[in-house]
Amino acid sequence: AHLDRIAAVEPAVHAYLHVAADEALATAADVDARRAAGDDLHALAGVPIAVKDVVVTRGLPTTAGSRILEGWVPPYDATLVERIKAAGLPVLGKTNMDEFAMGSSTEHSAYGNTHNPWDLERIPGGSGGGSAAAVAAYEAPLAIGTDTGGSIRQPAAVTGTVGVKPTYGSVSRYGLIALASSLDQAGPCTRTVLDAALLHELIGGHDPRDSTSLPDPATGYVAAAREGASGDLRGLKVGVVRELQGEGYQPGVLARFEESLDALRSAGAEVVEVSCPHFTYALAAYYLILPAEASSNLAKFDGMRFGLRVEPSEGPVTAERVMAATRGQGFGDEVKRRIILGTYALSAGYYDAYYGSAQKVRTLIQRDFDAAFEQADVLVSPTAPTTAFKLGEKLDDPLAMYLNDVATIPANLAGVPGMSLPNGLSDDGLPVGFQILAPAREDARLYRVGATLE
Ligand code: GLN
Repeated sequence: AHLDRIAAVEPAVHAYLHVAADEALATAADVDARRAAGDDLHALAGVPIAVKDVVVTRGLPTTAGSRILEGWVPPYDATLVERIKAAGLPVLGKTNMDEFAMGSSTEHSAYGNTHNPWDLERIPGGSGGGSAAAVAAYEAPLAIGTDTGGSIRQPAAVTGTVGVKPTYGSVSRYGLIALASSLDQAGPCTRTVLDAALLHELIGGHDPRDSTSLPDPATGYVAAAREGASGDLRGLKVGVVRELQGEGYQPGVLARFEESLDALRSAGAEVVEVSCPHFTYALAAYYLILPAEASSNLAKFDGMRFGLRVEPSEGPVTAERVMAATRGQGFGDEVKRRIILGTYALSAGYYDAYYGSAQKVRTLIQRDFDAAFEQADVLVSPTAPTTAFKLGEKLDDPLAMYLNDVATIPANLAGVPGMSLPNGLSDDGLPVGFQILAPAREDARLYRVGATLE
């Protein structure tokens, strides 16, 4: 049914870069056989899933939305893909994304735009616009995204779906093509909070192949979602982050946010205001730390190891000239912009002024979270300041594009978990997202509160 749906809507939506129909049908047949044989199967066995193209999949092309990886077929699976396959979920294919996960609209993909299923003239968010659009358009019931600064939560917000960025270190990064290693986390993109909890428990938990992996087992999310569905939040304190509302936020976004606060009060929660004064500097710190880490992570794309190799059109074929020709053609403008920013910020003489200062701001943001979580069990805000904008509207204005992430970036800088869930429609008829943030390793709280609001 999902393959039929993909065939019907893909020409308009373009959520996928690669559809793995044969492999998915083979897995489905295998699960059917195991079910008929009376095997004990995982709750999600046979439920198909789409995977963001930044996650490596053995035997399936993996491009991270970049020309530089065109034609590369990984020889191994990411840990989370191993877990998905072991549980019997057919992988439907790989989803479109901004190149190397840099962007908020999926317009920086080297393989064309994804369109928002709510309005095909509009962006589906980014960088994981393909995963969110596939779920919103019923081309997949579940998808995997990655979130370095909001790339699961902001696409969820603008497509009316659920997106969860787990605690840093709780889902293995082994097999994710790294953007910024200290910020990256993979997580679920779904239509319901309970689906996200089921998928999170499946992909989460310790992995010895990721040196930043936490020892914690991924349990308690489904139970928390079921508990939340009872609608009782008595005893829970909800902190509204003063700095993540007001100026720059669309009136319809703020109106829906206020209605959800009322719903939380009706469920018995106490709503208080908290202040996180350093959040105003989060975007600036992020756009130094991320390019610095990305410039280092992307150094391995040299025309010799993976994918594209371009030889200079004239002159000697030296390693350096092959590297320059390959990177010149293989990377898009946004990737080049960030490599230039990152190498500049890390260069001798500027390191302390830029990268060093940004790391200090990061610590202050972590302390803001610590103080806020003394006053409240969860923090809430709109996920994104506006609903989906028109394709092309912000493409030539990097700063306007970066501003989409003001509310999502603090969580990545501090490593805390966050969820975006559907929060009705704004005055323009487009979906709005409601963000919930919890202390590190307390992801279960997201599911309890999310399921109450759903
Ligand atoms: N939009 C943000 C950026 O461009 C977030 C990216 C992400 O989370 N991968 O960096």
